[in-house]
Amino acid sequence: MSFNHWLTQRIEKTKQAGLYRGVRTMSSAAQPKMVVNGAEQIVFSSNNYLGLANDPILVEKAVNTLQEFGLGSSGSRLTTGNTEWHEKLEQRIASFKKSEAALLFSSGYLANIGVLSSLPEKGDVLLSDQLNHASIIDGCRLSKAETVIYQHTDMNSLELKLKETQAYTRRFIVTDGVFSMDGTIAPLVQIMKLANRYDAYVIVDDAHATGVLGEEGKGTSEHFGVSPDVIIGTLSKAIGVEGGFVTGSRVLVDFLLNHARTFIFQTAIPPVSCAAAYAAIDMIEKDKEKRKHLLRMIKVIKGNLDAMGFIVYGQDTPIIPVIIGDAETSVQFSKKLQENGIYAPAIRPPTVTDGKSRIRLTVTAAHTDSQIEHLLTSFKYIGRELEIIS
Ligand code: PMP
Repeated sequence: MSFNHWLTQRIEKTKQAGLYRGVRTMSSAAQPKMVVNGAEQIVFSSNNYLGLANDPILVEKAVNTLQEFGLGSSGSRLTTGNTEWHEKLEQRIASFKKSEAALLFSSGYLANIGVLSSLPEKGDVLLSDQLNHASIIDGCRLSKAETVIYQHTDMNSLELKLKETQAYTRRFIVTDGVFSMDGTIAPLVQIMKLANRYDAYVIVDDAHATGVLGEEGKGTSEHFGVSPDVIIGTLSKAIGVEGGFVTGSRVLVDFLLNHARTFIFQTAIPPVSCAAAYAAIDMIEKDKEKRKHLLRMIKVIKGNLDAMGFIVYGQDTPIIPVIIGDAETSVQFSKKLQENGIYAPAIRPPTVTDGKSRIRLTVTAAHTDSQIEHLLTSFKYIGRELEIIS
């Protein structure tokens, strides 16, 4: 069989299972309004939670740095890719997250892989929330430790697993801070208590919480007033740029710099990304208004959809999953939203469990009240048309 014939057959199977995906072309990252596949849409699926990806002050900062430092970093941090901007940003992230030190990675995905593949040793065990992000799952797969899954945010389940794994050398509890598909917040106070009681370490992926939760946007650690052993984050969501990071103790950073393969063997992020992220963090810490506006809109959307009779998952985070049920109706719902100028994709199995297909809305500080009103009117109309609400 030819190479391409073999792949065509495999793709055919993906199509038959209803899991075939394709990309859509966006006119720019200038959300929330953009042209998607030729038609103007209000985007309700972006991670640009504070609207910083196209903030004029940050763009100007980036242009200036670009002119001074050029495009790429040209090497890994340990060879020739380490500029003053990388170090300045690491110090800034550490002070923002109130930790001793920080280490940059090329993405949040690679930060998770780097931590989980290097930190736990053979004979250790990773206790991982059932709904953790794919990058945590992949990191666990690459780890020398074994992985045990506990039920989503269920502290009885976590405690049971902690009791069952006493024979392992070390236990690591690993969890998303805010879960990307359900919009739930990990109960970190209880997790830290259990970790303390059962002598386990805690690793939190704060990708969706950084910039959003906490008075100054520092994430779940600020929201709950806790200090996990390792916090992972991304520059690609509320911070509006691109790249990942890990914060914690100085010795943790020193360890990862020496052992995390996704740090050692990858080209450093461009200095321009560091400079823009640095300025974005300054903005996030000082400007509480964007966060307040965001929280107000989250409450308006959730309250209204709930009152209409929709099943809405999650807590007060920018991720608002509206459960539709079967995959086909969810796709239909999403198409009808698009016809109304709203872009919000359907999320289907295997990303979510069977019967829990949904429209996953994300709201950002850049959305306006009238855009939210249009969203809610469209949901009511389409929900009734597809007989999801009465
Ligand atoms: N963790 C979580 C919870 C995420 O949702 C994502 C991105 N979707 C990542 C990590 C990966 O971050 P990045 O996009 O920076 O690779």
